[in-house]
Amino acid sequence: MLRITRDTIHYALDKARAPVAVVDPGAELLFETWDARTGTIRSERDLLDAPHPDGPNPATGPVFVRGADPGDALAVQILDIALGTRGYTGTRPGQGVLGHTIAAHRTRLCEIADGMVVFNDRIRFPVRPMVGVIGTAPPGEGIGTLHPGPHGGNMDHNDVRVGARVHLPVFVPGALLSIGDVHASMGDGEISITALEVAGEVRVRVDLEKDAALRRPWIDLPDSWITTGDGPTIADAIRVAAEEMARLLMGRLGLSADDAYMLLSIRGDARVSQCAEPAVVAATARMVMPRL
Ligand code: CA
Ligand code: CA
Repeated sequence: MLRITRDTIHYALDKARAPVAVVDPGAELLFETWDARTGTIRSERDLLDAPHPDGPNPATGPVFVRGADPGDALAVQILDIALGTRGYTGTRPGQGVLGHTIAAHRTRLCEIADGMVVFNDRIRFPVRPMVGVIGTAPPGEGIGTLHPGPHGGNMDHNDVRVGARVHLPVFVPGALLSIGDVHASMGDGEISITALEVAGEVRVRVDLEKDAALRRPWIDLPDSWITTGDGPTIADAIRVAAEEMARLLMGRLGLSADDAYMLLSIRGDARVSQCAEPAVVAATARMVMPRL
């Protein structure tokens, strides 16, 4: 299996970036990912008080997929997410949903052992591995890995996890797939703007869906379909995800717009994905619909 190493990190998904590997559809790949601060948070004295000089959320890649053309989609099956042995989180005054309650920067390192996060002497809980950044190169200017968009990017959906198949629009030849920002655990909303950030190894299979004509990423799981949205507020993000799900239900189940809307309202779940700091990074949301 081809290993895409951590030394290929970059901080913007950009069609001008040269691919580090060329693969055929159906290839299995392992992406080594750095944590969101590129390994610079080594002790609890290392604070989140200044941005990393190169940017947040390093992504590994990009990978060129043979035969992928604009109008197609990649289907990225998440096969495994291996976590490093220690992650960090932290607080910053004025940042995130409760930033007004925070007086000083604070960093917390959490050991990750035997599938558990050790928060402190008394509190431990099972890991919930997910991938924060996954995307293709956008058609225009490069987009920093802080930001989500129709190309994917920093979507922070808790459903980008093992077993998920992430469908990403292709905007440029070869698609140029990048992956980063693994979390050992993140609450929906990531309300402080920092999850349990950790280096990882993400094993995927990359398939090609010709002429899929996607507008945005969507995700399927064995039991559900999930559409994605982003926007300046969480309400805007939910609206986009709901519009996408209505389209999906109309197309797949042959429903009218009215029926899709009614079904979504009575059975679809609108979920917050990332709503920490909408003035800095667009809010993201998803619409989750069980397979019926
Ligand atoms: Ca993120
Ligand atoms: Ca993160």
